[in-house]
Amino acid sequence: MPLLRPVSNKFPIGLEYGVEYPEQFRHLTVSGRHEGVDYLTIIGEYIRLPETSKFYAKRYDSDRGNHLIFKFWRNEHGKKNTYRMIFMHLSKTLLSGRVVGDTFVLGEIVALTGDSGTWYTGSDGEYRSHPHLHFQVEILKYTPEGKPYWQHINPAFLVGKD
Ligand SMILES: [Zn+2]
Repeated sequence: MPLLRPVSNKFPIGLEYGVEYPEQFRHLTVSGRHEGVDYLTIIGEYIRLPETSKFYAKRYDSDRGNHLIFKFWRNEHGKKNTYRMIFMHLSKTLLSGRVVGDTFVLGEIVALTGDSGTWYTGSDGEYRSHPHLHFQVEILKYTPEGKPYWQHINPAFLVGKD
């Protein structure tokens, strides 16, 4: 199956998945590491869904800015796994009147890139004031006690390496 990046391939990656944040940005995640991948963009670039999925939430907070969350499912090793994708720092969402639970198909435009929220992006330890899409993928896991939680994974799983 061909892989689709959420933004055009002309945009470089600013910060890879799993990179440790410098001290002043470590508070942004529990692990102190980058939990998604950053695509450096202009403001207002189309964001396309890299997987057919269900609209799950539209939220705002001061770190993630305007963000959208979508859920999808995959049968893997005889087990149905639940995943979610998070698109952060959006300037605008484009949901065409659809609501939570509605299905969006692969390649659909769901938002425009922006610079909302608080963020760090830079692979060389430098803070870059650059609009970008932070794209994050998570899988639903359960503790031994049966409590659900979301575990971030490398987005390359869904969108490839470049
Ligand atoms: Zn990021």
